[in-house]
Amino acid sequence: MIKIDELKIFNEIRTHKPKKICISAPDGLMMYLEDISTRITKEFGIDVFIMGDSCYGSCDTTNFDAKRIGAELAFNIGHTISFEKLGDRTIMIDAFDDISFKGAIEKTINDLKQFKTIGLVTFSQYLHQIEFVKRKLEEKGIRVIIGKGGGQLRDGQIFGCEFYPAFYIRKDVDAFIVLGNSNFHGIGVSLSSGKPTLMIDPHTEEIINLEEVSKDRKKKAILSISKARYAEKFGLVLGLKEGQFDTKKLLSIKKRLEEKGKEVQLIAMREVTSERIAYFKSIDAFIQTSCPRVSIDGYTFKKPVLSAPQAEALLDLLDGKELDEFLVKPHWL
Ligand code: SF4
Repeated sequence: MIKIDELKIFNEIRTHKPKKICISAPDGLMMYLEDISTRITKEFGIDVFIMGDSCYGSCDTTNFDAKRIGAELAFNIGHTISFEKLGDRTIMIDAFDDISFKGAIEKTINDLKQFKTIGLVTFSQYLHQIEFVKRKLEEKGIRVIIGKGGGQLRDGQIFGCEFYPAFYIRKDVDAFIVLGNSNFHGIGVSLSSGKPTLMIDPHTEEIINLEEVSKDRKKKAILSISKARYAEKFGLVLGLKEGQFDTKKLLSIKKRLEEKGKEVQLIAMREVTSERIAYFKSIDAFIQTSCPRVSIDGYTFKKPVLSAPQAEALLDLLDGKELDEFLVKPHWL
């Protein structure tokens, strides 16, 4: 069952005494927001705005919108990070799944024993269980390393595009074990580390090998780069979400493409979708510096749409270099 750290929300409101607040959460937690909002209003008599748009990650804070609304605080639920506040008014609120990994470990231990040393990683919802699982695996004779946090991440934590705790221990482990039930995160660990990656799902008590699906993603990422190589006109898409906004990176890609004689159109978007992309008829290929997973996991684009690490690989190709392990990186943004 998902537990949201509501106590922190209520304490922050008590301390800062805002007149208006905003709350946002990923789709999987949206169902809890109306109830939380009702209880906040009842206790404090303040205005609560539920941010109804999609909220993908800690990159998707709402400082600017909250400011426009006049809300002194914005609560972003479900994205644990290593610091408390993002921007001038966003407070991160943990949401944990309290299911136990005990049964899943008992059931999967024989499969795990093929590895001498494993790297243990997980995402926000299961981070509070990582030390428990480490102890359990060590009791069964498996050496376990939890990588140090970096960027926004705590020890052992990964996002869909940020992998410091996995990346820096990848040479010391035989495989990574991801705790949880998210192929999205597991595929990210596999591609960014280049190591065998398995996931232990505490709900089904199964172990999932992510090798095949990761290989498939990588193949498609390479295919898009190969197609983009022959593009003459590029659409360079600036991601407008707060944590993705990076004009410097986009303009440096623009400069490098123009030096190679390519034509470039700058575009700004909050969400990169095939429907929006389809309006740009004269463009042969796109590079987007918003969420890299839109390119790596999205198959619906008719033209190549490259993420930042794919763009780096493309630029290297255009420079006459070989394609390297362009996804083996600690951070894809
Ligand atoms: S950029 Fe994409 S993968 Fe990275 S945190 Fe945001 S939504 Fe997640």
